[in-house]
Amino acid sequence: MTSTPDNPLQNAQRQFDIAADLLDLDSGLRSILRSPQRQLAVNFPVRMDDGHIEVFSGFRVQHNITRGPAKGGIRYHPDVTLEEVRALAMWMTWKCATVNIPFGGAKGGVIVDPKQLSRGELERLSRRYATEIAIIIGPEKDIPAPDIGTTPEVMAWIMDTYSMHRGHTVPAVVTGKPINIGGSEGRAEATASGLVYTLREASEAIDLNITESRVVIQGFGNAGANIARMLDDLGATVIAASDSSGGVYNPQGLSIETLLAHKARTGQLSDFVEADRVTQEELLELDCDILVPAALENQITGRNASRIKARIVGEAANGPTTPDADAIMFDRGIFVIPDVLAGAGGVTVSYFEWVQSLQEFFWTEREVNAQLERVIVNAFHEVLQQSQERKVNMRTAAYIQAVDRVSRATLTRGIYP
Ligand code: NAD
Repeated sequence: MTSTPDNPLQNAQRQFDIAADLLDLDSGLRSILRSPQRQLAVNFPVRMDDGHIEVFSGFRVQHNITRGPAKGGIRYHPDVTLEEVRALAMWMTWKCATVNIPFGGAKGGVIVDPKQLSRGELERLSRRYATEIAIIIGPEKDIPAPDIGTTPEVMAWIMDTYSMHRGHTVPAVVTGKPINIGGSEGRAEATASGLVYTLREASEAIDLNITESRVVIQGFGNAGANIARMLDDLGATVIAASDSSGGVYNPQGLSIETLLAHKARTGQLSDFVEADRVTQEELLELDCDILVPAALENQITGRNASRIKARIVGEAANGPTTPDADAIMFDRGIFVIPDVLAGAGGVTVSYFEWVQSLQEFFWTEREVNAQLERVIVNAFHEVLQQSQERKVNMRTAAYIQAVDRVSRATLTRGIYP
């Protein structure tokens, strides 16, 4: 086996190649789908609170817009690179196609640690970045959403900035915005809800009782913390969790309510007293039934995959598993629910939010969740069936569905001119 690097774009392309080979994809289509269609790199000034000017770098990449407008989050993180954003944009194309919603894939990022900025600096940075990328975003073109380090409030600033330049309010230019300006019920919890639906279906498929399962969660932000709360409500026992400050572990189970209150009060998990400390590496290898990576890429690799003890890995994060690790875990019988399926709840409810924003007609939370469950559960079973028929892992099965959908759409539309 050739070892796979920790470069997210190369990993995304390797995952694509596996599916393209199995689909016997035409070489022209391969070239189209293997690289992003558009990418914009911007450097822009922000006046800091003390009066000095700092220049930040950001990106917006559209991987593919064949099936609809480009869709994908914006990440604020010090380690953002163009390569990473390119990979994330490509994963969004496959995610939207896996759950069959009419979007292409995009992603944005700014190289910044948002925790180091004041609220005013964060607002000025967001408004200026929105202005820089306004030439390629829009409700019919490319619709951003929150990702690591960005929030509904950041989406509100982006929506407001875009609207100011247009001279009228354009709610459908972003999703994940606050409900009082056109956001959707259920969007904040959607990534977690979608993930929990896939965990429920996967548990049934392997005869695991989810209500008695022991769960480990890496990342305790919008996705990870909501997943912890929902699984705890279901009766599962969350035994370990981590954020960027480190990991906490209690084999008897963490009190999620107390942990959430602790995180809200102190901003971090690592000094939680009712648990032992674990490193990020140790956390991933803990004895558990379900492991949920909900932080960054490249967490489960050829180096640690043979020591993962979970029976199910539910990928809330994008790209947490490298192709090497996929092969090892497949051999070991670990049921990996890939990011393009397990993490698709957020973009699915973003699609519902976009529809509601365009129509100015709003759904109840019950309606949102019922439609979300329908989309995710259908996609899960399509992918499961594909994986059983072709005897491939769930990621390759999902990619086969997704790449096939995008390829067929490309052929139906034809190559212009
Ligand atoms: P977030 O910023 O709300 O939370 C990220 C969490 O990860 C934080 O708790 C942070 O402390 C933690 N973290 C950062 N570095 C870490 C490390 N090295 N080890 C452990 N924890 C670390 O972001 P989010 O929206 O919850 O996104 C998390 C993941 O889920 C990302 O991969 C994102 O792309 C993916 N995702 C998010 C959404 C969404 O709707 N928000 C949708 C689909 C997928």
